[in-house]
Amino acid sequence: MKAHDGMYIDGAWRPAAGRDTIEVVNPVDEQVIGQVPAGTAEDVDAAVRSARAAFPGWAATAPAERAARLSALRDVLAARKDEIAETVTAELGAPLAFSQAVHAGVPVLVAGSYAELAATYAFEEKVGNSTVYQEPVGVVGAITPWNYPLHQIVAKVAPALAAGCTVVLKPAEDTPLTAQLFAEAVAEAGVPAGVFNLVTGLGPVAGQALAEHPDVDLVSFTGSTAVGRRIGATAGAAVKRVALELGGKSANVILPSADLAKAVNVGVANVMSNSGQTCSAWTRMLVPAERYDEAVELAAAAAEKYGDRIGPVVNAKQRDRVRGYIEKGVAEGARLVAGGPESPRDQGYFVSPTVFADVTERMTIAQEEIFGPVLSILRYEDTEDALRIANGTVYGLAGAVWAGEESEAVAFARRLDTGQVDINGGRFNPLAPFGGYKQSGVGRELGAHGLSEYLQTKSLQF
Ligand code: NAP
Ligand code: MG
Repeated sequence: MKAHDGMYIDGAWRPAAGRDTIEVVNPVDEQVIGQVPAGTAEDVDAAVRSARAAFPGWAATAPAERAARLSALRDVLAARKDEIAETVTAELGAPLAFSQAVHAGVPVLVAGSYAELAATYAFEEKVGNSTVYQEPVGVVGAITPWNYPLHQIVAKVAPALAAGCTVVLKPAEDTPLTAQLFAEAVAEAGVPAGVFNLVTGLGPVAGQALAEHPDVDLVSFTGSTAVGRRIGATAGAAVKRVALELGGKSANVILPSADLAKAVNVGVANVMSNSGQTCSAWTRMLVPAERYDEAVELAAAAAEKYGDRIGPVVNAKQRDRVRGYIEKGVAEGARLVAGGPESPRDQGYFVSPTVFADVTERMTIAQEEIFGPVLSILRYEDTEDALRIANGTVYGLAGAVWAGEESEAVAFARRLDTGQVDINGGRFNPLAPFGGYKQSGVGRELGAHGLSEYLQTKSLQF
């Protein structure tokens, strides 16, 4: 796609207030592939004013009309799937097949799910002598990261639009082209002017201006804990709604009765996919002591097989950060059984698929989110030990449990302090609420729970 040199505000591409630009770099070959304007507080203000002006009209539309627009949006995203996949591959570096299946495919499912929810959700119910209405919260400021650039946009914008909210989006600086494509799709779907607005720019400038804007009613943020904490504090001071999705350090718990080979192979694939840049990745594998050596061998072999098929990480800073964690793992006494800190290629931000054995609970690589293709394998003695280790981080976003019997895995999963758990390799469900316990965040995305984030409740008594 060709980059737009403006902001999408009030239904048109408008010149940016300032002259600064952001260069978009392909992480595979480090070449500049385009540039977009770096928005300022002035651009954000124009976008928020546009969203505010459009709000009463959009909020008053019948849910069926909002459903029709979301259904049109789904169709446009489906029709432009190849272009979306190529754009994500160009600016994120993901292998094209993965971009097609996941980066372009999942947003079609999610947009479709909100088209259906907008049409069927109970925005009004009778409770005794009251009628209770679910009304849109207002103007939403959405701030998204680069790791699933289109999914994270759709997971915020689709439910916001379904609820009757209007939106200003500030996407990640690394992946603005996908966001511009999304804005084109919104326009093509016939969403009225001002209902969706896009301001590209840097986090500390455009992102911060959006998070602090007094006329934004709800801030929905996905990204690092450090930034999320600040956004939460700002929202708290202004008494406005906030949703935070802040990543994790999820456990893949393999119980003694599990199919070990399957659990290990699926677990390694889960960590290596998207080059480890997945907030819900199961980056800690917990294995019973008696099967530890076997699991380590299987995991190392599975990681070696990934070798060349893995894409780069998003930028040089992220590559250096991931390498730093690998060096730290070695320094703290973990045993490298695959990969390592050396660059596998001369060009591009590549990191080798890396597996650490003999990782203990308190090591940095067992506690902090690395956000790269790095798996830590920990040993446990019994079920209680496994539970204690699994719950022993500040995070609680996702996880997996494997056992011979589903019921055994479910009983264990119910004791995990985490928002989402896959049982024996359960499949992705676009309607399942996604979000964190503990410091993994506040609020839920996807499905009806994701929709309710954008609603507020009013009751009338008769
Ligand atoms: P980040 O800085 O938190 O980026 C997330 C979004 O917030 C981006 O749009 C970013 O803009 C924006 N932002 C940055 N500073 C801001 C501020 N002061 N006010 C408002 N918005 C702001 O995350 P990152 O630097 O891309 O990645 C760092 C680490 O965060 C990763 O290594 C990983 O551990 C974690 N992470 C988690 C997720 C997740 O899904 N939970 C996603 C990505 C990263 P810019 O793009 O201009 O920075
Ligand atoms: Mg950043």
